[in-house]
Amino acid sequence: MNESVVTLDCKHCGEKLLPFELPEAAGFETAFQLACFNDECPYYQRGWEHMQENYAVRCSYRYRIDPANGSASPLAVWSADAIKDRIMDVDVSLEAAEDDAAPASQEGDGDE
Ligand SMILES: [Zn+2]
Repeated sequence: MNESVVTLDCKHCGEKLLPFELPEAAGFETAFQLACFNDECPYYQRGWEHMQENYAVRCSYRYRIDPANGSASPLAVWSADAIKDRIMDVDVSLEAAEDDAAPASQEGDGDE
């Protein structure tokens, strides 16, 4: 029953996930996603070695969650600063969004 609950902390390092603007909005239900931008994150650090050893490329990935469905997937990055310029300076609360599906802007206009 709790499958829709989304954790806002990185499960690899415990850092708070930060919202970032998607490079391409097409194909996604939301304009932003959440990712761990901690450079010390073991998931991210392991990614460099993994990609170098298996694919001989210099890139890695960060832990990323799609807030639309709460699913986690790797966010490919090509440098330590990649996508950091897209981090949004907003507070995102997924729990509030889950509890109240109706947009707040529509309240107060009840006319039954
Ligand atoms: Zn992390």
